[in-house]
Amino acid sequence: MRKTIIAGNWKMHKTIAEAVTLAEAIKSQNPNPTVEIVICPPFTALAEVAKAVQGSPVAVAAQNMHWEVQGAFTGEVSPAMVKDAGCKYVVLGHSERRQYFGETDETVNKKVKAAIAHELIPIVCVGETLEQREAGQTEDVVATQTKGGLAGLSAQEVADLVIAYEPVWAIGTGRTASDDDAQQVNAYIRSVVAEVFGKEAAEAVRIQYGGSVKPSNAENLLAKGDIDGALVGGASLKIEDFQGIIDGAK
Ligand code: PGA
Repeated sequence: MRKTIIAGNWKMHKTIAEAVTLAEAIKSQNPNPTVEIVICPPFTALAEVAKAVQGSPVAVAAQNMHWEVQGAFTGEVSPAMVKDAGCKYVVLGHSERRQYFGETDETVNKKVKAAIAHELIPIVCVGETLEQREAGQTEDVVATQTKGGLAGLSAQEVADLVIAYEPVWAIGTGRTASDDDAQQVNAYIRSVVAEVFGKEAAEAVRIQYGGSVKPSNAENLLAKGDIDGALVGGASLKIEDFQGIIDGAK
């Protein structure tokens, strides 16, 4: 049984005070016992948010990190620092990181290994651009990103992490993949995991969908057999919307 995991990616939004206020609000909502909730504030707010939700079922994730433990890497944040700030998860390889900050499958892979070494659970993002989808390359792209991002891991390590399928054309655009399309790609990603890491890892690994998830489409998306949760951007910034998505999980 895979527990549904709904993560709110706050991106480059919220001061420390605003982040703590939203975290407190999320913590005090009625919990949905079938759902694991993760919030991903910006680096500056991680420690305060982690303190605010301590002892509650809400977990905290960083949105990125470097793979080195420490050193002369001006502007970077290490896995040890993310762990020290109170994070349980870390989002890696988000398409905005790939698109604007030069992340590749190779750097994502280094980060995934570093996260696991520091007992952080990676949420590894994969997904095709509109151009790639229209050229019929969706499966090739997600297979390459999945294999590249997870290269060298053991079956158990893969079983314990989270993959997020986020078609780039659906992120922040209001254009959601239909639940059938999302289910199809999620199932395909699971088959890629089965091929490389075996059936048990494929059955255990949780695969989220992300890209314009909102209260009105969450229930149908989350009802699909291979969609084990959601990675939510815009709609995670408002408590009513985020709660509406959580309520969509049965
Ligand atoms: P969105 O973002 O929900 O605003 O489309 C999703 C994401 O980038 O994780």
